[in-house]
Amino acid sequence: MDKEKSQVKIKKGFRRVLSIILYISITAALGLYSFMLGEKLGREEGVSQFQIQFPDELEIFPDEEENTEEDEEEIILVNRDNPLPEDYEVTLYTLPDGVNRAAEEAYAPLCQMLAEGRKEGLNFEICSSYRDMQRQQELFDEDVEELMKAGFSYEEAYEEAARETMLPGCSEHSTGLAFDIVALSYQLLDAGQEKTAENIWLQEHCAEYGFILRYPKGKEEITSINYESWHFRYVGVEAAMYMTENGLTLEEYLSMEET
Ligand SMILES: [Zn+2]
Repeated sequence: MDKEKSQVKIKKGFRRVLSIILYISITAALGLYSFMLGEKLGREEGVSQFQIQFPDELEIFPDEEENTEEDEEEIILVNRDNPLPEDYEVTLYTLPDGVNRAAEEAYAPLCQMLAEGRKEGLNFEICSSYRDMQRQQELFDEDVEELMKAGFSYEEAYEEAARETMLPGCSEHSTGLAFDIVALSYQLLDAGQEKTAENIWLQEHCAEYGFILRYPKGKEEITSINYESWHFRYVGVEAAMYMTENGLTLEEYLSMEET
């Protein structure tokens, strides 16, 4: 009986081991199957999401590229050799002083520049802004008359006046993009202007707002205009920064672009 009892025990133990092995095998097989199934489903979901999103992105990109191209505006050159066309049109905005006027694109940058300067304790006066061509003719004639009174011949007076005042149609002031800005405490358009705190600040910061000092010292041969520390011209931030950093006049900058 003892022998039989022990044989039964062995059989029972063997069955238990077998059932454990079987249990582990089935669990492992089920786990592997669900893992593989999950992988397959996951991959399929990924593909379908990718296909849904892609066409949306494709439609966005071309529009954005078109917009950046439209942003680039042409910079107009006005000087003795390049008069404004007689039918030149400009949209003007009256400045907060109620007197001066600025072209649409220069209005906000000008106001912003002067406001920033005021925060530094500076006080500006705009003594010349937009001028129509008729007013430019009057100014020029007045200059010639003055010089003739001082003893110049008409030809000499004409030549001299053209160095100081632009001929009608050749003045940047007729674009609404140019401004003569002086210190409130010193309003003379002479060599003393550049010594004012206002002028020093303007010359240092104007490019940040898209303005250039249009007739710089040492460039008289190129601009055909005597140095004017007070005459600022709007050209846009990118061009203004480039010209200022590289010491270029508008004439030089535009001829560089052509080549
Ligand atoms: Zn001017």
